[in-house]
Amino acid sequence: MNLKKLKILGESAKYDLCNYIYPGIDTYLSGKFPGIYTSTSPNGHCINLFKVLMTNKCSNDCKYCINSRRSKLERYEFTPHELSNLFLDYYNKRYVEGLFLSSGASKDIDSSMDREIEVARILREQGFDGYIHLKILPGTSFDLIKRAMSLANRVSVNIESATPNGLEELSSTKNFKMDILRRMKWINRLSKKDPDLAPSGQTTQFIVGATDESDENILKRTMRLSDKYEIKRSYFSSFNPLKDTPLENHQGPHPKRAARLYQADFLLNSYGFSIDELVFDQNGNMEAEIDPKYSFALNNMDLFPLEINEASVEELLKVPGIGIISANKIITLRKRGLKISKLEELKKLGVSTKRAEPFIKLNKSYQSVLSM
Ligand code: SF4
Repeated sequence: MNLKKLKILGESAKYDLCNYIYPGIDTYLSGKFPGIYTSTSPNGHCINLFKVLMTNKCSNDCKYCINSRRSKLERYEFTPHELSNLFLDYYNKRYVEGLFLSSGASKDIDSSMDREIEVARILREQGFDGYIHLKILPGTSFDLIKRAMSLANRVSVNIESATPNGLEELSSTKNFKMDILRRMKWINRLSKKDPDLAPSGQTTQFIVGATDESDENILKRTMRLSDKYEIKRSYFSSFNPLKDTPLENHQGPHPKRAARLYQADFLLNSYGFSIDELVFDQNGNMEAEIDPKYSFALNNMDLFPLEINEASVEELLKVPGIGIISANKIITLRKRGLKISKLEELKKLGVSTKRAEPFIKLNKSYQSVLSM
């Protein structure tokens, strides 16, 4: 096996994220095990995935990408048999539990997609029944999407930007509506018709900071995508100005921006926040140094302090330091007729009392006040 090829195509795959619990720590165990990344599975467990590109040959011209057709780099390509053998070797040695496969796109999109699908087909034929995530290339035909979904646990089309104009700025070869949204719609339609197709659903990925799109633009788009196409998860990849790309001199985003987007997305999807409750500046961006829940609390001090022994679960979830599990534990105790009177008791329930203190009362007494 050509180790150089594996190193380059494994390294190239690091920009396709599969880890949202530790954003930015999409660990690449380079050197010893090229192509192996620690990831979070759909049920939240950490697993090692073999994450690699079929090829870095690409006819698209995404300005942020080193594999763009404009780049003068050496091009490599795996055959489906090479790649499936390599995966099975890693799998049999227990280095990896699943596969995350993407590819550069040739002019004939379907032929590139077909090669990805062939890898999955060979693996299933060889009896591998573990996790396969196939990246659907923008513009792939309906029939190939269906075939990919019949073999993969999860599929994804990268949206890259929140708006058609944003994508136009980044690439002259991909069409936001036709190549991306329409494919997401097909995936959703196929999933609804047959839940066995890609049973873990579809995800997508944004490049954050390559254009002027704001956090508000991005989060509104993620909400629309999950409402319309049941996108299970949006990943936020921080734009990284790479040498020898047209955006090499473009400044990268604040290092915490992607993490703040994950936190805000989580508030919207799991904590019952609405987009109007998030705090944006006049440019539609969140404060990078403060997490969005804390920012909400500081901007809504009239809602606090909240009496822990009386607040509803929805109210508890608005308190910094109180998560879903601890909010439910508080409610369960209350149903049993038990009252919480000390911070230590809250701590035992998993509350980060340091963060929560200024926003709560216990048995009508304030715990602390914020020094602003
Ligand atoms: S489609 Fe765009 S992002 Fe993907 S490999 Fe080609 S140039 Fe890079």
